Amino acid sequence: MMEKSKTKIIATLGPASSDKEMIKTFIELGVDIFRLNFSHGDYNDYTERIKTIRSINDKMPIMADLKGSEIRTIVKNINGIVLKKDKEIELLFNDADLTDENFSLNYDKINQISKKNNHIMADDGTVDFIIKEVKRDRLIVASMKDGILKDRKGTHFIGVDVPFPILTPADKKDIDYALSQNVDFIAASMIKSEKEIYAIRGLLHDNIKLVAKIEHPQALSNIEKIIDASDMILVARGDLGVELPITEVPTAQKMLVSAAQRKGKPVIIATQLLDSMMQNPRPTRAEVSDIANAVFDKVDALMLTGESAAGRYPAEAVRYLCETVHNAEKTIDYTAYKDSIVINREDSSEAISYAAVDAAYSLKAKAILCFTSSGSTALRAAKFRPQIPIIAVTQNEDVARQLSIVFGIIPMKTDFYSNTDEMIENAKKLLMSGRIAKHGDTFVITAGTPAGIAGNTNMMKIIKIE
Ligand code: PEP
Repeated sequence: MMEKSKTKIIATLGPASSDKEMIKTFIELGVDIFRLNFSHGDYNDYTERIKTIRSINDKMPIMADLKGSEIRTIVKNINGIVLKKDKEIELLFNDADLTDENFSLNYDKINQISKKNNHIMADDGTVDFIIKEVKRDRLIVASMKDGILKDRKGTHFIGVDVPFPILTPADKKDIDYALSQNVDFIAASMIKSEKEIYAIRGLLHDNIKLVAKIEHPQALSNIEKIIDASDMILVARGDLGVELPITEVPTAQKMLVSAAQRKGKPVIIATQLLDSMMQNPRPTRAEVSDIANAVFDKVDALMLTGESAAGRYPAEAVRYLCETVHNAEKTIDYTAYKDSIVINREDSSEAISYAAVDAAYSLKAKAILCFTSSGSTALRAAKFRPQIPIIAVTQNEDVARQLSIVFGIIPMKTDFYSNTDEMIENAKKLLMSGRIAKHGDTFVITAGTPAGIAGNTNMMKIIKIE
């Protein structure tokens, strides 16, 4: 098995990856976190998948991805509707009159948002309709290309600010369910501003991390506030590439990665990483280059969506992703990156974290040990992307699982400690028993004191294992 990468791997589970053997294979290949996409499947499916994951490894972190304010197709024909370029088709406002030849949407104000000559796109932009006529109870639309329209595909009214409540009733129900299952992350879809993040945060327990999915152009304008309000962001390139001209997605991705990194918040890149592997056993050169470039940008995690959930080659997709990440990481100049970061020298926590990473390089330390109750001391060290591991030592199981998503962090659960000496003794025992340390190794420690209380990073210590 390959050495574990610093860039973390998230795999979406679905019909292609729900059995125990496949989930076990994913973990063995290097998956760090599993995602359940609430836009597909039902609570029975998610409960089964969660049970299976935890029966293999009860420490695996799980992300629940909410539907958000999405519009999806309702197509009766189980094979989908065959679309021909320029051929007209009816989009009904009500699904009671559905036949095998027409379709509807799970949105009840279609007439208010439809205008002649506007475009409606579905299925990550593979389906593109132009509105020909707005009638009392239906739209007449024409397909811009040949294709197939399937059921439950995400749909976008291009250039229209579609009115939705800040928090949909479906998301409220899904949040209740996710809380009952003790998931580690909630991913919030179609975020436009920090307001939706605050609304969802109000429903969560403190021990859940909130991921803002960036997939709407309005989120790009409000990105600073969204990053401040959330625990991390996810660049959801599928919907982003429909809401924005597809050629603007790479620029948006670069902007989002830098914005999150400046604030020391994790950033995840998702969707179509290995899209051709939905059908083929090998990826394209362009796909592996896209993955490697995200690694060169030192993102925290890469997330497979359809490839691992519903593709024909889910295990191969995970294998190619892990191998590409592993190879790309070998060429990163970590010291140059650390030196390029503009440090806020008035922030004592940042100054100590930088000093710890710098000292670790000078002293050829084996790892940086971050004692953390909330995770923030470990995140501060990760901001500098050290080449050596960041071992996040925490008494809190939830924090340990959640830190698995962050670049370079190896979380470790420790026994209770009440003061700094006890904290260091516990850590030495952990390092020796985990065969991480041997005699003569140096470790740089950062922590916030008093021990065990969330807050600042205000301590640095260098230890040598005698
Ligand atoms: C995306 O749009 O890229 C994404 C990950 O979101 P979803 O799978 O919910 O469409």
